Amino acid sequence: MIENAKHIYYRGVLSSCNYTCYYCPFAKKKTSAMEIERDKKALIRFCNTIENILFKERISIFFTPYGEAMIHPYYTKAIIQLAKLEKVRFISIQTNLSFDADEFLENIERSGVNKEKIKLWGSYHPTMVSPEQFTKKANELSSQVDICVGMVALSGKAQEIRELKKYLSPDIYLWLNGEAKRKTRYSLEDLSQFKEIDPFFPFELNTLRRGCTEEGKQEGIIFGELCRSGKQSFFVEANGDILPCHMNKRPIGNFYDSEKNLKSFECHRKLCDCYLAYSNLKDISMSRFFGNTLPVRIPQKRKYEAIFLDVDGTLTDSNGKISSSTEKALEYLHDKVKLYFVTALPIDNARKKCKSIWPLFQGGIFSNGTHMVDFQLGKEEFKILPKETLEKIPEEILKCNKLSFDQSPLGETLRLILPKKWATEWSTHWVFDGSKAYRQSIEASKTNGVDMIRQWNFFEKEQLLVVGNSHNDIPLFRDYPYSVAVLNASAGVRKEAYYQLNIKHLPYIMD
Ligand code: SF4
Repeated sequence: MIENAKHIYYRGVLSSCNYTCYYCPFAKKKTSAMEIERDKKALIRFCNTIENILFKERISIFFTPYGEAMIHPYYTKAIIQLAKLEKVRFISIQTNLSFDADEFLENIERSGVNKEKIKLWGSYHPTMVSPEQFTKKANELSSQVDICVGMVALSGKAQEIRELKKYLSPDIYLWLNGEAKRKTRYSLEDLSQFKEIDPFFPFELNTLRRGCTEEGKQEGIIFGELCRSGKQSFFVEANGDILPCHMNKRPIGNFYDSEKNLKSFECHRKLCDCYLAYSNLKDISMSRFFGNTLPVRIPQKRKYEAIFLDVDGTLTDSNGKISSSTEKALEYLHDKVKLYFVTALPIDNARKKCKSIWPLFQGGIFSNGTHMVDFQLGKEEFKILPKETLEKIPEEILKCNKLSFDQSPLGETLRLILPKKWATEWSTHWVFDGSKAYRQSIEASKTNGVDMIRQWNFFEKEQLLVVGNSHNDIPLFRDYPYSVAVLNASAGVRKEAYYQLNIKHLPYIMD
């Protein structure tokens, strides 16, 4: 029954566009008065029918026109009409952003509708506008309504896409669509660059229904019971045909029939590689990232008080450097939340590695939880290694000149450091990191360090985001409800985190 809908896509008769992109079929069609008249009539009918249906739950609606709709004022009118309805959670539309943004925002303002109910999906067309023009419009709109933007991931064009990202407000999610004919032919380099820009890019590849785990492709998700299409989510066409989704085009009923029972159906499609379709598959990583606005590709933002970030491999890249995109994201985050390091590095090493971003941080957990400091609160604490442990160091270890120490400013020992091989021969209680082993107070750990700073600041656990990349970060991921494993972490580490994102993606989820 359509009354069970939680989300409805609508596509009218419109099939013309004000742009002339060479790759797009709609650009070839000239707008005609008859087309517009039919489209307008169909849209009014759709909106009036929505008003009359008694849905079981509040619904969201998404206009996905074949062509540019926002240049036609009756679409703004329809958006306002639907946004005014209590039953409508939000209303969204796909657009090339060529419409007059000031006039649109003024109309919304004048109508008195809640702007939070309006969401835009902006597509960038590089042959029609410059990245500066497009992002200026997107940034202006995003100051008042939620928006995501994106473009087709053209093979070998990662640098141009990064250019777009450069001008875009860091909190606007930049998605990438797979180029239809190339989805199975991207090089591994393309794949990794596109994933770096849009962490959900692998979903664009045609592997979802096959459970494929091929290298460079999305780990498969199970299909079947797990698709919401035709059960909670429906695609309505201008003539009222109800389809399960944009890819499964077998009508299962008609929106304008008084008989609202829908046919049951099975999906026989081999592919499910268009966002409007695969976002209906119940995948946990997408659900976590997009939350209630999953159908319209807008990430769910949360209010955090502080972010704790690991250094090696998390803030730094494979060359041990902090990239300019990471710096830009941290500058943005610094204005919103408190930033802390949480690292196995001693404070001096961390300061040296993170020189360019050091002033953005309020303090941190250093030497793997043996040294905590909050510069702003003026608090500092060390976890000293008990004397008895030091007294038990075997003679051969003391003499091997492989042993080194981390010390507090008063010369107290915080950690013993040995090559891994030597450590395992001596005792247990070691913390391993790469080729080194650390012996520290059993009360000292990254998790306890974060907890100490959390208590100094009276933060609740759910107000914190912890970010890391290694096994050493897993206890933190388990202890805090919101965690991020960066994309270069191993699958085992990523599996433990709530999100899988890079630092530059963090502004997407920050309120
Ligand atoms: S094509 Fe994909 S989203 Fe559409 S019904 Fe089939 S499995 Fe579901």
